[in-house]
Amino acid sequence: MSEKKEKEKTSEKEEAEKAAPEEAPKESKAKKGKREKRKREEKGVFTRYKVENGKVVRLRPICERCGPGYFMADHGDRYSCGHCGFTRYKQT
Ligand SMILES: [Zn+2]
Repeated sequence: MSEKKEKEKTSEKEEAEKAAPEEAPKESKAKKGKREKRKREEKGVFTRYKVENGKVVRLRPICERCGPGYFMADHGDRYSCGHCGFTRYKQT
C-alpha cells in the first residue's frame, strides 16, 4: 500500500484559486471619486442577538407566521420574512 498525501496538496491549490483575481486596470487612470461605499452588512446569529446583563436580547422581530427561530429582515420602514415573504410595516 502506498498512501500519498496528495489531499493536502489539492486543498492548497483550492485556496489559491479562491483568491479573487485582481481588478483589471483598464480605466484606473481617470479617477472618479464618486463611488459610494456600500455598507457591509454583517451576517450571522450574532447580528440578531445581543447579550445584555447576561440576558439575551433579540434585535430583530420574529416572523408571526413562521414562529420563533425565523427573524425578519430590517428594511428601514418595514420588516420582512425571508422564509415566507411576510412583510410587516413598522409602526411609528
Ligand atoms: Zn415567515
